[in-house]
Amino acid sequence: MNDRSHLHPLFLGPYGENNDLFEKLLLEFLRDHVYWRRNFHPEDPPAIPLLAMNSPGYRDFVAHMSRELHALSAALKRSVPFSSPRYIGHMTSDLLLPALVAQIMTLPYNPNNVVDEAAPVTLDMEISVGLQLARMLGYATDESRPDCAFGHLTSGGTVANYEALNVQRALRHYPLAVAAAARNRDVGIRSRQGDVRALDAWTLLNFSNAETIALHAAVLEAASKMPEREGRAWLDAVESERVEHLGLVEFARRHPEWREPVVLLPATAHYSWQKAMKLTGLGTAQFRKVPERGMRMDSAALDALLSELAAERQPVLAIVAVLGTTEFGTIDPIHEIIACRERWQQRGLHAPVHIDAAWGGYLAALFRESDGSFADHDSVRREFRHFPSKRVHASLEAVRHADSITVDPHKLGFVPFGAGAIVFRDQRMLDLVAQDADYVFDPERDAPDYRAKFRQLGRYILEGSKSGAAAAGVYVAQRVVPPHREGLGRIIRETIRAAEHFFDHMPVIARELEGCARLSVPVEPDSNLVCVAINPAGNRSLRAANRFAREVFRAMRVDPAVPVQTREFFGSYTTLSRRGMGEEEFLRVLETLGISEVDADGIFILRHTLMNPWLLDNTGDVNYIERYGEFLARTIREVAERQGR
Ligand SMILES: *Cc1c(COP(=O)(O)O)cnc(C)c1O
Repeated sequence: MNDRSHLHPLFLGPYGENNDLFEKLLLEFLRDHVYWRRNFHPEDPPAIPLLAMNSPGYRDFVAHMSRELHALSAALKRSVPFSSPRYIGHMTSDLLLPALVAQIMTLPYNPNNVVDEAAPVTLDMEISVGLQLARMLGYATDESRPDCAFGHLTSGGTVANYEALNVQRALRHYPLAVAAAARNRDVGIRSRQGDVRALDAWTLLNFSNAETIALHAAVLEAASKMPEREGRAWLDAVESERVEHLGLVEFARRHPEWREPVVLLPATAHYSWQKAMKLTGLGTAQFRKVPERGMRMDSAALDALLSELAAERQPVLAIVAVLGTTEFGTIDPIHEIIACRERWQQRGLHAPVHIDAAWGGYLAALFRESDGSFADHDSVRREFRHFPSKRVHASLEAVRHADSITVDPHKLGFVPFGAGAIVFRDQRMLDLVAQDADYVFDPERDAPDYRAKFRQLGRYILEGSKSGAAAAGVYVAQRVVPPHREGLGRIIRETIRAAEHFFDHMPVIARELEGCARLSVPVEPDSNLVCVAINPAGNRSLRAANRFAREVFRAMRVDPAVPVQTREFFGSYTTLSRRGMGEEEFLRVLETLGISEVDADGIFILRHTLMNPWLLDNTGDVNYIERYGEFLARTIREVAERQGR
């Protein structure tokens, strides 16, 4: 067995094994906080009199508060035991001790990462976290480079995805606004394609992000060469033509050749994309679903779709690729998607690529060496039984070509909730969504350097007040367990090994169940999620199989009416939909289960997120995956018996 002792100090542990360490750290740092308060002008008299605690009102309040806190503590015992290796449901697990302690330690200081004036310490940490993620993903991270990457934390992957769409919307429409203002005021603005006044709408809508960034610089430069009042008027004219000012309806009226740009994504995309399209006003009608093969985007189908869109002169706001789908952990062929984008860019259709790697982004830590280089396939392959396929390796290598990437520290980063992130390949992409970044309008003022700029974080992002404690948690976690092969990679390696063990063990369970039920893994895993489909022996109806699988799931679901302590295991479920998978794949899965009567449009399957670090043999006597296998087999037999099969 592998030695896992390096994992021992990293987590509080399912049994609270590290509670002495945890308590010691918390006590020390909470006391430290109190001393810090006290030593800020110790000459001031106490605001709360020392004898206040003797008053009846004070004592009543404390009694009331204690009662409520005890009630909360009691209620929380009904929480889902994410830290236990018996929890293999959703994308949560035990938390990195450094993240947990850092976050708790920071809470009483209450920093607000909206601006450095409210967070002189933790905002800088957030900027560093963004750069560290950028480095893990392979982006440029030299702060002195104008095209340095920039990443920041969000409340979660959902908001990160909103932001990606918002920034792409700004970039996509800016050249049209500049051209309109330039024509109105007769200002010559050069771009790679020529003077913008002479460009048609299709060309303007297909500026690459780099070209739009250069155009923005040209607009500012033109302003700086004009007398001050004229310069301001010119910049105001550009702003007043932008879609962010006019709204989509008026923008469309002024540009009859304009069409709503579409967003291309696979059917496996997370539902936050639906919300994002509603929120940005683009509308979900602007989705174009890219067909899939085995729950991964089909790049040949993407190419065909882009060809159609180019022929219709239909602009594309973004291609969304998924790195680690929420349901199956599958990985879209990023390298092929990027290649496809490059091909069409040369033919005049620009399609930015955003990668939704909320789940799978940290898989990059398995490939990134501590010196920043990217590990070759063989050296990673040696650490596993199946992982990574050539396609997965090539996909991870190619993420650095994407325009932006969502990655959630509160998922595979093992930190507490409230920490998603988005990373942009080029920090200047954010200039077009900046809110009153006054230097932009003031040719007299030099642009601030990278850190100074983003210390005004709230001007550049969707959110306002935000938790500095969350930033401190991610920062300390990534200092102690950096996102590369020798750091976080060592934890994520365990999750993949657990998934491989699970995948290899399922046929054993399937054999044990012969004559009772058929078991199959319908989607070959790319990472650390494994799904299992079930059909009772002799059954040919999909609807009956779903009813059966649902009943099996009842034994492992979170049910407010059932005390969590009485559950043996927790899992989750999903549905393989006929529309999402395509007819051929759908029928193939049904065939492996022996189902011929297609009387439903989806297959109910069990879904397992194998991210708990203690799933495999750790102390020498328990292997939770094999235990789960026994539990699953037993549950299936019980359900079969109850249903009289
Ligand atoms: C989890 C997830 C999201 C949403 O992230 P939240 O942090 O839950 O807001 C988006 N996309 C993918 C692929 C995800 O797995």
